[in-house]
Amino acid sequence: MALMKCPRCGGGGYIYEAWAQGTTAGQQQSTCPSCGGRGYVTDGQTLPNNSPDMGMPKVAWVSPIVLREPERIERILASIRAIWQRFPDWRLGQLLNNAIPEFEKGLFYTEDTIAEESLDKFEGKIDEGLDRCLKNMG
Ligand SMILES: [Zn+2]
Repeated sequence: MALMKCPRCGGGGYIYEAWAQGTTAGQQQSTCPSCGGRGYVTDGQTLPNNSPDMGMPKVAWVSPIVLREPERIERILASIRAIWQRFPDWRLGQLLNNAIPEFEKGLFYTEDTIAEESLDKFEGKIDEGLDRCLKNMG
């Protein structure tokens, strides 16, 4: 079982559909139905519907299986560590709440791709802020 970038959305987790009404046209963004917005799918095998193993997650997969990319764990933890070391007095919940605004809408269902993007942005802002402070001090 190998993880691969979702071929339908190219790993972005969203698909864009063009629409037109009268003289107005646009694009609508929606969650990729192939990967459920995760951006990754597996190329796992599909068992026939009448297979006795159907429904057993160990062996029977309905293709495409959706799995989140395991490499994200180290990346996300590294981001959290870097931010926390800048603000060691913050509580963990405080840090996550500050860095990942989407958590306010619901921590449970916030996709890691979204959380990771927010952490990266937050880290970037800290760097910008520090640069500005250092320049002002110099
Ligand atoms: Zn997709």
